[in-house]
Amino acid sequence: MADIERINSSEREIPHASAVGWERGRKRKTNTVAYNGGRDNNPNVKIEYVDIAKAYRYRLYPDSKRQRELDGQIELARLLYNKLLGKAKDEYKRTKNLGIKPSTFNRFLREAKAENKEFSGLYSQVQREAYFRLIKAYQNFFRRVKEKRVGKKVKAGFPRFRARGRYASITYPQFGFRVDRERKDVHMLRVSKIGGMRIELHRPIEGDIKTLTIKKEAGEYYAIFSAIDRVLDTPRVMDTYPVGIDMGLETFATLSDGRKIKKPDFARTAERRIAKWQRVVARRQKGSKRRDKARLKLEREWQAVNNQTKDFVFKAVGDLIGSGYTSFAVEGLHIQNMLQNHRLARSIQNASWSRFISTLSCKAEEAGMTMTVVDARNTSQECSKCGKLNSLSLSDRTFSCACGYVADRDVNAAINILNRATAGQAGSHARGDLASTHSVRDGRAGSLKREHTQQEVSMMSNAGEARGL
Ligand SMILES: [Zn+2]
Repeated sequence: MADIERINSSEREIPHASAVGWERGRKRKTNTVAYNGGRDNNPNVKIEYVDIAKAYRYRLYPDSKRQRELDGQIELARLLYNKLLGKAKDEYKRTKNLGIKPSTFNRFLREAKAENKEFSGLYSQVQREAYFRLIKAYQNFFRRVKEKRVGKKVKAGFPRFRARGRYASITYPQFGFRVDRERKDVHMLRVSKIGGMRIELHRPIEGDIKTLTIKKEAGEYYAIFSAIDRVLDTPRVMDTYPVGIDMGLETFATLSDGRKIKKPDFARTAERRIAKWQRVVARRQKGSKRRDKARLKLEREWQAVNNQTKDFVFKAVGDLIGSGYTSFAVEGLHIQNMLQNHRLARSIQNASWSRFISTLSCKAEEAGMTMTVVDARNTSQECSKCGKLNSLSLSDRTFSCACGYVADRDVNAAINILNRATAGQAGSHARGDLASTHSVRDGRAGSLKREHTQQEVSMMSNAGEARGL
């Protein structure tokens, strides 16, 4: 693995990973299963280790020479990607075969380097990364084709060439980088073919480092390490206080026990400023310095709103996890509608919802609780008491049913969400039977995760499109 210097334990005053800039943690498959010696007579009690994938993000401070170097590498990587994609397209036209074998890719790479000598100046691992990005672009393409086939309204276009700014990072898989400690609190990231730059290592990296990505965002540079950490599985919490969460336009979230999370007020300001800079960018002449400047401003506004969303979601989730609830049920977001809806306000709101769901899912898992995603259909119209469907307009804030049930509209929806999550496990809810609760939990977590990743992917493309950069 990459030989990053482990930060020694005396430096543990550095805030823990979960406290600062927490990015994402996803549990991987359980690999090692060991039986607890002390409880040998109960084979149902076992200790499990899980691999957690984590991303660590740090600000980089390259000097101007290194900046030019990085910009050059990023641009070169983009050109190489486009070149290789062009070759892949030609190949597809000829053979009608969409797969790229490593040997074919190597031929593309040789040809590309022969056509443009500059490509040899790219670090070999970064060259290889272009391959993985192509494969990923193809996989996304296949996924869209498949979705289209089952009737979803998505565009299934062939992977596209990346414009400047749409390929703003380079990735080193495994080799070619290292972090050195110069003196207390000063660390240098050394990268092959680029050199050393100061890195703000505000928290330690836990686990084995797998890749390094250097990213340029709104004129600033970041290093993102992905690492795999093997940890003891968290003991499961008994599900005694499950809660349903309804996400809405008026209120950010409403809980089935009546609690509400207010909509953050930064969203409206951000929306105004982003709209303003979008107009400025559109007005200014393409390719002009002034347009580039406005674009940078626009990018900064997006970054600001992202950071604010992150903080807001982080606090809201922390609060939920610490409130005594033992499991969470949320509704699946309507991805199709969201993709079609390019309106700014919605795209900001959708981004914060999806961040909320992914953060809650990770944090709940870390705390030994589950989060279930349920079908969102009719959660507002259905009576949570008798199940009858009532027609309700958007302005109706109160839900009232012929059966006599009256409740806050969103609370009724949240109760429906909770009911849907618990309905699937009726019968297997027998407490104390550890083995059966485990299997229910694992099965559910598995299906949840897949759904979840898809959502994240489409949210990202949605946010990207909304930027209109
Ligand atoms: Zn009713």
